Amino acid sequence: MRLKSLEINGFKSFAKKTSLDFESPIVAVVGPNGSGKSNVVEAFRFVLGEQSMKSMRGKAGLDLIFKGSKTLSKSSRAGVSIYFNNSDKIFKLTNEGGEAIDLNFDTASIGREVYSDGLNKYILNGSEVRLKDINNLLSSVNIGSSGHHIISQGEADRILNASAKDRKEMIEDALGLKIYQYKIKESERKLERTINNMKEVSLLRRENAPHLNFLKKQVEKFEKAKGMQEELLALYQEYLKRESIHLETENKNFVSEKNKTEEEISKIAPQISESEENISKIENIKENELKSFEEKFYEIRRVKSEIERKLGRIEGMIEMEERRTAKPKLSEHISVPREELEAFLRESNEYLEEAMYMDVLENIAPLLGKIKDILNRFAKHFKEGGVVEVSSQITELKETREKVLMEMGKIEAEEKKLQESILKVKGEIAGVVAEEREKEREKFAHKVKFQELSSHLELIKVKEENLKKEMETFETEIQEGSVLVGTEILQYKNFEVPEIFTLSQEEQKRKIERIKIKLEDVGAGGETEVMKEFEEVKERDLFLAKEMEDLEKSIESLRVLMVELKEKIGIEFEEGIRKINKEFQEFFTLMFGGGTGHLTVIAEQKKKDEEENVEEGEKAPETGIEINVSLPHKKVKELHALSGGERSLTSIALLFAMSQVNPPPFLVLDETDAALDEANSRKFGDMLEKLSKHSQLVVVTHNRETMSRAGVLYGVTVGADGASRLLSVKFDEATAIAK
Ligand code: ATP
Repeated sequence: MRLKSLEINGFKSFAKKTSLDFESPIVAVVGPNGSGKSNVVEAFRFVLGEQSMKSMRGKAGLDLIFKGSKTLSKSSRAGVSIYFNNSDKIFKLTNEGGEAIDLNFDTASIGREVYSDGLNKYILNGSEVRLKDINNLLSSVNIGSSGHHIISQGEADRILNASAKDRKEMIEDALGLKIYQYKIKESERKLERTINNMKEVSLLRRENAPHLNFLKKQVEKFEKAKGMQEELLALYQEYLKRESIHLETENKNFVSEKNKTEEEISKIAPQISESEENISKIENIKENELKSFEEKFYEIRRVKSEIERKLGRIEGMIEMEERRTAKPKLSEHISVPREELEAFLRESNEYLEEAMYMDVLENIAPLLGKIKDILNRFAKHFKEGGVVEVSSQITELKETREKVLMEMGKIEAEEKKLQESILKVKGEIAGVVAEEREKEREKFAHKVKFQELSSHLELIKVKEENLKKEMETFETEIQEGSVLVGTEILQYKNFEVPEIFTLSQEEQKRKIERIKIKLEDVGAGGETEVMKEFEEVKERDLFLAKEMEDLEKSIESLRVLMVELKEKIGIEFEEGIRKINKEFQEFFTLMFGGGTGHLTVIAEQKKKDEEENVEEGEKAPETGIEINVSLPHKKVKELHALSGGERSLTSIALLFAMSQVNPPPFLVLDETDAALDEANSRKFGDMLEKLSKHSQLVVVTHNRETMSRAGVLYGVTVGADGASRLLSVKFDEATAIAK
């Protein structure tokens, strides 16, 4: 890596773009007072990220921008770019993970611009970057931000004036330990961030915990419920299967029973109405027949009694005639024993009365026969004792009587025939009635059967209704069950029912109900959501736990890294001090022709309040660096007692010693040689040459000796336009310009 060039544009007195090439190991910048040499040194500081305005002799960004002159207008911005040869890829950028990545350019260019509003831009190989990145990059090539490699005018003895603590920092920077400190700081920040993250994560976990616990319990409940569901499903399978078989069988039975009953009813129903019709028809016919016979019988009776009367008259007339003709005549009075008369009256009366109460003709006829016999017996009294004189009239009457008797005989025969007919019809009617009774009995029996069947049918219907309700209950049960155990419940259809009941259906049902209540208590609803949420929350908790683990690991590794870095710093610091002391002694002897100079690490006196806040053992004791010198032939050892030249020589010896141990790529020295006399200027020149073997040197000087050691000389002058101008000059010109 080599410093290639510096480009200044609008920066301080450099109004126009001005470029310096650093082809030679020692480049000198010369020029009269106020020409702008120090502005070149400040351009180095500026472009390398200097944040202290004071060290660039300004108050604000605006002070760094060319302010304009009589002939030139002011610039809107100041810009400086620095170019390095990076063909060896030594420039590195450290990423967030702490890894160093090569800057893959052959030329590394760093630019910085400042605008009148104070805005700064940092540019790395054409891309805008952060200041942090510039610092990061420069620390990889041992160009620290403390600027120990840029010694401004009058600053040569800065290291002598600095406090032991600040001196230590400058030396650490020169030793390239800043990068480790930077890494430690970075690690501390990371550690702090990580600890905060950990706090946040553990807070989140703690916040999550009650919810997670709640969900876990819910899930446990669901798991328990799942067990119950499985049990319930198993119970349901058997129960429902048995129930369905039962319902099916019942239904089948009812249907066939109903059909059978209905069939029977349909057979009986017509029989009931049919028999009624038939019987009443036959009965009617017979009754009519009987009526006509009876009517005829009464007619004959009437005719018969007429004939009898006729016969009575004829016989009366015959009697009268015979009495008239017959001699002796029959006494007009007949005597009949009283008993006979009374018997006659009593008997005839009895029969008559009996006949009067008879409503059936066939019963009257025999009574009338008996009455006739009684009358005939009594009539014999009249015949006895009479002589009959037969006259012609009598004969005639007798003939008439014969005729009437014949008529009578006929009528009587007819009467008898009718009586028989009546008896026959009556018999028939009685038969029909009997048949009717039989039919009625049958009908009654049918009616009873019909009634029985109807109520049986009703009963079946009621049972069917009940069965229907049972079926509905069955369906409801399935629906309710499916809510609790899912559609798997329908698999009961394929269930093989064991032959032996372990539990009766009622017991089974009761058990089912008990589990159902328990399940409903658990509230199986929303299971999937809760499970999902549980998984999510659990996953989140696991994630946080993992995160916690990672954070703990990274805290651990950060702590390890910090310890390692601190150890490294400790070792390298010690080693560095040893090397610096060796070089310091050499340069010191070279400068003063003898004597001793060396650095001592001392424990810094802490301020009182600081001490109180720091617990013992928490921090390593603050240390600083003391410079001990002993000039040849002189007893004075205190730094403040040295002359200006001696101070200058001592600080140069130390600065150069520091640069020798861990050489920076370049050193910028602004009139460091100002206080040296001729002899010391030569020694200074020798040291420059020694240094230039390891570091490129840019020296601003008025010193001829110094100029003589430079390979390239730049002269700075102020032009007529009031702006600094730069030109490459020869040694002779340079000495002329420098005046
Ligand atoms: P010496 O040899 O006396 O140390 P020098 O060559 O180092 O002088 P510088 O200090 O670099 O000179 O330059 C100072 C000059 O730069 C002053 O004249 C000052 O006016 C000029 N200057 C400083 N800032 C600006 C600015 N923003 N715009 C224009 N000119 C400026």
